[in-house]
Amino acid sequence: MEKAVEKTVTCPKCQGEGKFTVYGSINSVQDPELTEKLKNLSLFDYTCPHCNARVTFDYGLLYHDMDKRIMIYYKRKEADAKKVADMFLGRGIYDVAEDLQGKYLYRVVRRKRQLREKIAIFDANLDDRYMELAKLFYLTKFEADYPDLEAEWIYIYGKDGVFYIAFSTKEGEISTNFDMAVYTHMKEVFPELSDSLRGGEVFIDQEWAMKQMNNRTMGDLLTGAVGSDLKITIS
Ligand SMILES: [Zn+2]
Repeated sequence: MEKAVEKTVTCPKCQGEGKFTVYGSINSVQDPELTEKLKNLSLFDYTCPHCNARVTFDYGLLYHDMDKRIMIYYKRKEADAKKVADMFLGRGIYDVAEDLQGKYLYRVVRRKRQLREKIAIFDANLDDRYMELAKLFYLTKFEADYPDLEAEWIYIYGKDGVFYIAFSTKEGEISTNFDMAVYTHMKEVFPELSDSLRGGEVFIDQEWAMKQMNNRTMGDLLTGAVGSDLKITIS
């Protein structure tokens, strides 16, 4: 795969043409500047040289942290996401990753904000599985606090272990501080997840978290000592 390709793009506003660089992969050790742009998502931004319109060009790529041995593949289409998941898991015709199995931490995401979220979580040396469970907890709280609003997506953002949680609704975005006590609580509630983070499932998302919750009721979690007085406020 070409690492970077310069493409000719057309501005949706003035139809003028310009150049936009698309990356196949970004290596956090070798490309610190590009990694920073990926983390603030400006990598996907383009400013038209003719009319100054700001445009977002969204595309999938591979994020690779050689130091922590983490690979996160962002693929927008479901079929493509499944293909890279097979590659990571060493299934099917792809066996190139087989010798890395168990050593590398692999994830596959379908949205760029999910990619940013995973990077922030791993940068803070946290376990994204407990983060996903904590997000589900927050979603339940959100639904109770705002019965009229529907959260389409929930995202964690922030850095250095200080996180915020954003609820994306049709009316706009609502965000609040993320309480690390909820994360710690999830570690206590789900001790069976304490085995290796590496070599397991590659899709760790809301759907995965829902499956883990199957055997427990969210009510039990909410009446637990932690988070029972948690109130989400619009900031
Ligand atoms: Zn333009």
